[in-house]
Amino acid sequence: MYDVIVIGGGPAGLQAALTIGRMHRTVLLLDSGEYRNGTVEHAHNLLTNDGRSPAELRRIARDELAAYDTVKVRGASVTAVSGALGDFSVTAAGGVERARRLVLATGMRDELPAVPGLAEQWGRRVAQCPFCHGHEFARQRVAILIEGEHSLMIERMLRPVVASALIAAPADVARVEEAGEGLALTLAGGGVEHVAGIFTAATARQRAPFAAQLGCALLPSGGVEVDPLGRTTVPGVYAGGDMAHLAAVPGPMVSLAAAIASGQLAGASAVRDEIMA
Ligand SMILES: Cc1cc2nc3c(=O)[nH]c(=O)nc-3n(C[C@H](O)[C@H](O)[C@H](O)COP(=O)(O)OP(=O)(O)OC[C@H]3O[C@@H](n4cnc5c(N)ncnc54)[C@H](O)[C@@H]3O)c2cc1C
Repeated sequence: MYDVIVIGGGPAGLQAALTIGRMHRTVLLLDSGEYRNGTVEHAHNLLTNDGRSPAELRRIARDELAAYDTVKVRGASVTAVSGALGDFSVTAAGGVERARRLVLATGMRDELPAVPGLAEQWGRRVAQCPFCHGHEFARQRVAILIEGEHSLMIERMLRPVVASALIAAPADVARVEEAGEGLALTLAGGGVEHVAGIFTAATARQRAPFAAQLGCALLPSGGVEVDPLGRTTVPGVYAGGDMAHLAAVPGPMVSLAAAIASGQLAGASAVRDEIMA
């Protein structure tokens, strides 16, 4: 019986495990190896690590966790979760593990507009967050392939950063291909446009069903509802990272720094609630 099982080995789950392990509570982290930024070569806007690769960040985090004998990390896909505060069961390759509390940090997966060639560039020359990838296209021409008003918000955000922006609906583009240092967009109506990169809008969905299966409330955003301390609506179940949504903010806070912060909060709350019980 572990004190806490953390499901998810992205920044939120790794930080939660560090926080719990440092308090000499036993913690098992299970990670299926499917990261939202799995295709990203360089992550940005993370103080002291601006431009480092996400894979390297995870490697460093795992090295840091290895220093704590209260923390176990296992590469395994969780297939089922059940139970209640004091005795949760988590089924993964290798058997069933039990814990008094759970931290869910299973992240989100993105569904991209169905433009041929777009997915192949995701996380490289195709992005959705100007804070993460805008500066990389500084003073260059970009395309904004987003339906409706959201495209205008992205354009205004990027205006001081990029040279110019071509705004189009995804359906207006027949194909995206690499062309030299940038991308060539073949337009559905004919013609080719050259840009350094593309901003688009993906549809995000929960990567794992466990929060819903445990009865945790979800918000209309698709995020799992958490309180300001990272607690879901189910006692003993905490959530952090992209999958979690504090109702007071407009949507899930999607960034490495936010995932680390909410993972820490979820882990600290699991420890704190145990002594307050
Ligand atoms: C293209 C792209 C570029 C980005 N660039 C930046 C950037 O430059 N800077 C920035 O701050 N943010 C960036 N982000 C956002 C950032 O990547 C996320 O906010 C962050 O990774 C979220 O961390 P997380 O821990 O919540 O989820 P994830 O990192 O997605 O981790 C989820 C974890 O849950 C595990 N998991 C899921 N299901 C199971 C299961 N059944 N069993 C076991 N484990 C499971 C996965 O294997 C994984 O370990 C980018 C996102 C994208 C999509």
